[in-house]
Amino acid sequence: MLDRDAVIAWLRESDQSRLFELFAWADRVRHESVGDAIHLRGLLEVSSFCVRQCAYCGINATNRTARRFRMDRDEILAAAREAKGYGYGTIVMQGGEDYGIKAEWMADIIRAMKQDVGLAITLSLGERRPDELKLWKEAGADRYLLRFETSDPALYRLIHPALPGGFEDRIQQIRMLQEIGYEAGSGVMVGIPGQSWDSLADDIMLFSTLDLDMIGVGPYIPHPDTPMGAWMLEGRGEVAFPKLPEGEQVPGNAETAFKVIALTRLLCPDSNIPSTTAIATLNREGGRRQGLMCGANVVMPNLTPAKYRECYEIYPNKATLVETAGVCARNLKDSFEQMGRFIGSGAGGRVRH
Ligand code: SAM
Repeated sequence: MLDRDAVIAWLRESDQSRLFELFAWADRVRHESVGDAIHLRGLLEVSSFCVRQCAYCGINATNRTARRFRMDRDEILAAAREAKGYGYGTIVMQGGEDYGIKAEWMADIIRAMKQDVGLAITLSLGERRPDELKLWKEAGADRYLLRFETSDPALYRLIHPALPGGFEDRIQQIRMLQEIGYEAGSGVMVGIPGQSWDSLADDIMLFSTLDLDMIGVGPYIPHPDTPMGAWMLEGRGEVAFPKLPEGEQVPGNAETAFKVIALTRLLCPDSNIPSTTAIATLNREGGRRQGLMCGANVVMPNLTPAKYRECYEIYPNKATLVETAGVCARNLKDSFEQMGRFIGSGAGGRVRH
């Protein structure tokens, strides 16, 4: 069994033949525990409005260059029908923390979607009140994604200014989602300034303590119009982010994300783990595929209509800006078959062992 020290050693490993062993081990465990199916979740970015000031995110409330949109009911339901047509088992509705998304309005869409296409529904709409989360669950939502981004409390507070009068505790939020009955997903970004190897190991250990159904990991990609991105890219800005001693800062690259996926698979064998868009953005040629070969078993093709997609700029040059949902669906099938894998049927929820 991997303990924290072993996780740290693997995270620091740079020998390519050793890493090859790690990725092959994780791929074997993936095969034994969740099989060879790759589940497709159609990602619909329903709103770019956000009340939060997350220092890394391009749609944060303070970014005046961000273009704001909110999809309407008909557009959302049309996208769900499109997802069903491509054979996806799940639709993921993601957005900024947008209080223009009224609880009853979203509950009505969830009910209509369930009745219309019957797909599994995942929500990722930020921190909402318990009564709203319960309403959406009762309306038919199955899953909820809320990344804790980092398990280091001081770093968390630095990059997530609380709402006025608010107090941040995402771990407690995740536990509440589980109590309500959602399949709960979380995850982290890799390469946040101030994130050390030890802290990243703590993140991975926390995944397993939280008994998560879904775990998403992606590299942090600097957005120039955010406090963290401006500091990273141009060394400017009002907030100074931590600088760690030489060799201690986790790099925000694809290889580190692959290591985290592999270690996560080993510690959480039956969780659903996506090969994320952020990885594909850093490595367009083979990033998504490589993620699937070191432990991941989920892909989230983008279903957002083209006119909105470019407005949902959480980081620049997202891989999914160029691929239409239809082309993506066809290409994925071919590329999975080349890997000896196949598209999963049905909702693709977590099957506990
Ligand atoms: N508002 C919801 C929330 O906060 O959970 C969902 C939307 S939020 C944009 C989805 C995820 O995008 C975040 O959990 C974060 O990990 C990721 N993200 C945001 N900005 C990013 C960046 N610059 N690089 C990589 N990932 C980023």
